[in-house]
Amino acid sequence: MPADAAVSVRGLRKAYGKVEAVKGVDFEVRPGEVFGFLGPNGAGKTTTISMLCTLVNPTGGSATVAGHDVVKARDEVRRNIGLVFQDPTLDGYLSAEQNLRFHAELYGVPKAAVGDRIRKVMEMVALWDRKDAKVNTFSGGMKRRLEIARGLLHSPRVLFLDEPTVGLDPQTRSAIWGYINQLRLVEDITIFMTTHYMDEAEYCDRIAIVDHGELVVIDSPEALKASVGKDRVQIQTADDTAAIKALRERFGLEAAVHEGAVTFAVASGEEFVPRLFAELGMPITSVSVSRPSLDDVFMSYTGSTIRDAEAGADNMTTWMRAMARR
Ligand code: ATP
Repeated sequence: MPADAAVSVRGLRKAYGKVEAVKGVDFEVRPGEVFGFLGPNGAGKTTTISMLCTLVNPTGGSATVAGHDVVKARDEVRRNIGLVFQDPTLDGYLSAEQNLRFHAELYGVPKAAVGDRIRKVMEMVALWDRKDAKVNTFSGGMKRRLEIARGLLHSPRVLFLDEPTVGLDPQTRSAIWGYINQLRLVEDITIFMTTHYMDEAEYCDRIAIVDHGELVVIDSPEALKASVGKDRVQIQTADDTAAIKALRERFGLEAAVHEGAVTFAVASGEEFVPRLFAELGMPITSVSVSRPSLDDVFMSYTGSTIRDAEAGADNMTTWMRAMARR
């Protein structure tokens, strides 16, 4: 394992009974990177991040965070990481500042440094003027910002963010990304985040796509999109099955229904569309052409769009979690 990697993972596995949540993944995160773990619900993102944060014990393999082994050196790992998880863990009856003071004490931040550090992290997420307000008066977005500030308070080397913007409106999501991007300019930190928002993965230096507990591909968003190289065409017709058959027979194209439209990939979408209308042999009611996006990357590597994959995984995940709580 490279000595200077912020996170290094080898053959990491986690099984919950018969469910193999993470099936042996290998990857490295470089210091200073914003690294995204991208995948549909139930892909194994939270389980992976939980193992790296020492909250869940691996079934197999190994991992280091900031140079420390997540099983053999849990305390060192914990001292070096900040955590922002999906479920808020702030105390609503305390003020924003009191929440941070409590955290500073838990993490042993030197008393003389606490005041300055609290001010710095709260200013970073634009909450300093609300420091005395009780947290239960905060909006969802403000709470998430405060959690990010708290995750940074003890100057961690690696900040783990599990779906940092889930459930937030688009404006707040983009504000949070503003803070995350600013963060790397002012703090010497590596950011490891999970998301199932394709647009957010674009902000990452590199992303790992995970599906069914396996790492499918890992690279920069640009390189991944370039690797797909084809435009995505989606058409609406009165008979999807006949359209898929006609696409195969007349053009040699493999199409499938994704998100309610017949979808396929061609090298140059705009040039292909006139031919499509002329030669498909059936009416097309609408057509759209898009350049490769991370969605297409996901589709080209996994065979389904992330939304299709989620629709299938959602029911299973909810059911399995309900069973696990029993
Ligand atoms: P989401 O985006 O919904 O959080 P995820 O990619 O983070 O999904 P995980 O939460 O890691 O996925 O779940 C991966 C698989 O492991 C799922 O099939 C899930 O049902 C299962 N799983 C997770 N935690 C447990 C548990 N405590 N007990 C049993 N099964 C679990």
